[in-house]
Amino acid sequence: MLYDLHTHTTASDGLLSPTELLGKASEMRLPGLAITDHDTIDGLEEARRFIAENSLALDFVPGIELNTELTEKEIHILGYFIDYHDHRLLGRLQEIKEARLERARKMINRLVVMGLNIDLDQVKRLAQGDLIARPHIAQALMENSYVFSVKEAFDKYIGKGRPAYVNRYKFLPEEAIALINEAGGIAVLAHPGLIRNDSLVEDIIALGIEGIEVFYPEHNHKQILKYSAFCQQHQLLITGGSDFHGYGKEEGRGKFGSFGVSREKMQNIFDYQQNRSKKQARRT
Ligand code: AMP
Ligand code: MN
Ligand code: MN
Ligand code: MN
Repeated sequence: MLYDLHTHTTASDGLLSPTELLGKASEMRLPGLAITDHDTIDGLEEARRFIAENSLALDFVPGIELNTELTEKEIHILGYFIDYHDHRLLGRLQEIKEARLERARKMINRLVVMGLNIDLDQVKRLAQGDLIARPHIAQALMENSYVFSVKEAFDKYIGKGRPAYVNRYKFLPEEAIALINEAGGIAVLAHPGLIRNDSLVEDIIALGIEGIEVFYPEHNHKQILKYSAFCQQHQLLITGGSDFHGYGKEEGRGKFGSFGVSREKMQNIFDYQQNRSKKQARRT
């Protein structure tokens, strides 16, 4: 049984609420999981409360996946064990939310000019929260019968380089790492295989990343070996997760619980975090 350390809920672009996701985890008897919504902590309190109220016997890791960019490449940084009341983190996330809303407005305008009528209220309703991501725009295009799938919406309209794509706000990996560390969390490089550029991966290691997501649905056997070797060489934590979003297999990455880390690897992560907390306590 694996600890799935990469999942999304309705707080970002997943289809299950934190409660529904935890219900599923409990049914499947997963030993533990992390919720890692894009650029938001909005699902974490609900998750924590649901676990406490139902005395669920699973290890819950409060997490986040920060979407950053470096030399035009998307770099996603996972944060684990973050203090989700940290003021600096919350302030920055609020700015990102606003920038995402502006970006959605621009993308919707482009679509409307192209004759595809969707509107912001519809996209907001589909987002089920105030964090808007491209999949919500894709869902609106589907709802209005312009496309058959989320994937088709990305391929035709809103994927990078497609006509309705609008660039993201500026957010660098080093800022994401610092933000996570300052909130007491561990910063991990998500799905390095998707970056398709290992010299960039080495650059991010040099920025002070503490772990690499080695186990991931789109990593092949060779990549798993390569990134495990990176971890050994640079003394980084090995993590893994399914990137579960709750929609179709082809569009939602992995099946929940099908990727992650063993109990032994999870123990390494817990130990590392405990040492950090001790060090921090000594400093203050
Ligand atoms: P955003 O953060 O608003 O730029 O949206 C990015 C999200 O869109 C990612 O987290 C994925 O969940 C989803 N996504 C990105 N590319 C694709 C694609 N080609 N097909 C389906 N979903 C995608
Ligand atoms: Mn996503
Ligand atoms: Mn990602
Ligand atoms: Mn993800």
